[in-house]
Amino acid sequence: MTATAEHFDVLIVGAGISGIGGAYHLGQQRPETSYVVLESQAGFGGTWRTHTYPGIRSDSDLHTFGYRFKPWRNAPIASAEEIMTYLGEVIEENDLDRHIRYEHAITSASWSSDDARWTLEVTRGSTGEQLRFTANFLWMCQGYYRHSEGYTPDWEGTEDFAGQIVHPQTWPDDLDYADKNVVVIGSGATAATLIPALAPDCAHVTMLQRSPTYFSTGRNINELVEMLREIDIDEAWIHEIARRRILFDQNQFMHRAAAEPEEVKQELFAAIREHLGEDYDIEKHFGPAYRPWRQRVAFVPDGDLFEGIASGKASVVTDAIERFNETGIELASGEQLDADIVVTATGFELNVLGDIAFTIDGTPLDFHETVAYRGAMFTGIPNMAWVFGYFRASWTLRADMIADFVCRLLGHMDELGATTVTPTLRPDDQDMTLLPWVDPENFNPGYLMRGLHLLPQQGDRDPWQHKQNYWVDKDELPAADLDDGTLIFTP
Ligand SMILES: Cc1cc2nc3c(=O)[nH]c(=O)nc-3n(C[C@H](O)[C@H](O)[C@H](O)COP(=O)(O)OP(=O)(O)OC[C@H]3O[C@@H](n4cnc5c(N)ncnc54)[C@H](O)[C@@H]3O)c2cc1C
Repeated sequence: MTATAEHFDVLIVGAGISGIGGAYHLGQQRPETSYVVLESQAGFGGTWRTHTYPGIRSDSDLHTFGYRFKPWRNAPIASAEEIMTYLGEVIEENDLDRHIRYEHAITSASWSSDDARWTLEVTRGSTGEQLRFTANFLWMCQGYYRHSEGYTPDWEGTEDFAGQIVHPQTWPDDLDYADKNVVVIGSGATAATLIPALAPDCAHVTMLQRSPTYFSTGRNINELVEMLREIDIDEAWIHEIARRRILFDQNQFMHRAAAEPEEVKQELFAAIREHLGEDYDIEKHFGPAYRPWRQRVAFVPDGDLFEGIASGKASVVTDAIERFNETGIELASGEQLDADIVVTATGFELNVLGDIAFTIDGTPLDFHETVAYRGAMFTGIPNMAWVFGYFRASWTLRADMIADFVCRLLGHMDELGATTVTPTLRPDDQDMTLLPWVDPENFNPGYLMRGLHLLPQQGDRDPWQHKQNYWVDKDELPAADLDDGTLIFTP
C-alpha cells in the first residue's frame, strides 16, 4: 500500500558527491526552499561507498575533486576513506543529515503538466515499503553507472576456469589473494590502483590490457600548498590558490597535448622511465595509439604502479584475450597466463537516469530523443536537471557550477511566477544537426560508447552543446541568459 505523498520544492536523487553538494548549495543559496535527498544505499558517498577494492583512491587531486567551499587538507590524491570522511564532515557541518533519506530507491518518476509536479514511487530497501513523494523540481545526482554491478565482457570459456573471477565494483570482503597468482584485466585507473595494492601480498599480479593508457606520475604532494602552509596562509585561501594553479596547469597541459602531442607523450614516458629504466618497453605498455588527453590521463602517485613492476611482483601484458581455460587465460599471441584469481577491471554498466522509469504526462520518456540544454537539462523534460560532471577534469567542478545554475534558475522562476521550465528548441534550431552526447573522436571510453544510444543528443550550437570543457563552462554557465527563448517558462 502506498502512503500519502510527501511534498518538497526540490527532490535530489542520490547522496554521492553531486547530491551532497547540491544539498549544500541549495541550503546556502535558497534557505527557504524545502528539499529532500533520496538515496538507495544505506549511507552517503555514492562511488566512494560502493567501491571497496584494495587501494581504492581518487585519480584527481582533491583540491578540484573536493568542493570549492570546503578546503582539502590532506595529500592531493586521496583514499576512499579520506573522501568519505570529507563528505561526512560536509554533511555534519551543514546539518544536511536531516534532509537525507537512505535506503530510498526511486523506481519511477512521472511528470504531470496539470499539477506542474513530479510524482516519485520509492521502495524502502530495508522493509520493501512503497512510498510516494512529489516535488516541483527534480535534481538528478544519480551519477552515470549502475552501482549494483560492474561491466564484464562475455569471454569464451569462463565456465571452464577453475579460479575465481571478481569485479572490483563488487569486491568480496573476504577475498584471499595472499600468495596467489592474480591477473587484473584492464588498463585504466582502477587497474593502476589495484596492481600496487595487491602486489606486496600476492605471488604475482599481472595487468592484462588490450591497449595501453597514458599515466602521469609524481609525488603525492602539492608543493605550492606546502609552501603556503609553511607561511601560515589561511586554509580557505590555500584551497582557492591551489585550485587555480591546478586548473591553470591542466589547461596548459590540454593545449599542449593538442599542439605538441609527441613532446607531451615523451615527457610522460620520461617520468615512467625513471622508475622502469631504459630497457623497459614503455611505448608498448604505456603508449596508447591516441594522443594524450583524449581520455583522462590517470595520475600514479609516487609511481607506485611502476615501482610494483620494477620490484618484479607485478608485470604488464599487452595482448588480447582469446579465451579462458581451466588454469587461466589464453592470449591471442598464443601465450598462456595462469591465474588463481582474475579481476575484471573492465568498467561500468552505464546507467542512464538511475534505472528510474520516467513518464511525461503519461508518455514513457525516450531520453535519447531529447537534446541537451548546456548538458544539464533536456528538451521536453520540465523541471529537471542532471549533474553530469567532467571526465578529464574533476567531476565536482561541474557539480558545483550546475548547483549554482539550478539555484539561479529556481530564483528566476520565482521572479517570473513560473511553475514550469522546459528547454525547447527555437524554430531556428529545429533542423540543426544532432550529435552524440560526447564526440567519440574526442572522448571514447567503452561504457559511453556502449551507451550512446541511451544518452541524450546535443546540437551544433549554443545552448544545445555539451562541451565537457571546464574552461568554457566556467564563463558560460554563470552568464547563461535564461531569457534567450530556449527555456520556456509557464505560470
Ligand atoms: C573507482 C572510481 C574512481 C573515480 N575517481 C574519480 C576521480 O578521481 N576524479 C573524478 O573526477 N571522477 C572520478 N570518478 C568518477 C566518479 O564517479 C565521479 O567523479 C563522482 O564520484 C560521481 O559522483 P555522483 O554523486 O555524481 O555519482 P555517484 O557517486 O555515482 O553517486 C550516485 C548516487 O545516487 C544513488 N542513486 C542512483 N540511482 C538511484 C535511485 N534510482 N534512487 C535513489 N538513489 C539512487 C546511488 O546509489 C549513488 O549513491 C571515479 C569513479 C570511480 C568508479
